[in-house]
Amino acid sequence: MKSITIALFILFCFIRIDYICAQEEIPCFKKNNIMSEKINKSDSEWKEELPSEIYRVTREKGTERAFTGKYYNLKENGVYYCVCCKNKLFDSNTKFDSGTGWPSFYAPFKKESVHEEQDKSYGMIRTEVTCNKCGAHLGHVFNDGPQPTGLRYCINSASLIFNKKE
Ligand SMILES: [Zn+2]
Repeated sequence: MKSITIALFILFCFIRIDYICAQEEIPCFKKNNIMSEKINKSDSEWKEELPSEIYRVTREKGTERAFTGKYYNLKENGVYYCVCCKNKLFDSNTKFDSGTGWPSFYAPFKKESVHEEQDKSYGMIRTEVTCNKCGAHLGHVFNDGPQPTGLRYCINSASLIFNKKE
């Protein structure tokens, strides 16, 4: 009899946890909320909103010429946002001088800030990095970065907007 009572109590606890998790503020459901925040605009909507160079890089997977972007040499403290949707993408704490002519970071702002996918264009196998909120093309990630991650996020300045820390 006692074991049945314990079993019922455990079952009740599980139901209770499920119920609590279904409430919106609970972190275990946060991931789904992020998914629902995604921005889906058509190419023509983006084309209307964005300057042509930003449209070419972010929506047509273009690459700006090395040493021409406005952020490759910037050393100020602040946060880099997605130029299309203002999603937080990189913190200046993780920026380093890679010598490549593109802004380089060893980590994204949060793991879920960006999306990574294999890119086989131009006869190379690379990992493309996009904004996880609006799908903007940002650049590529390589395995030759500094510690602590060993990664190098090679990002177009055109995909970013910088906001200085006060
Ligand atoms: Zn975005």
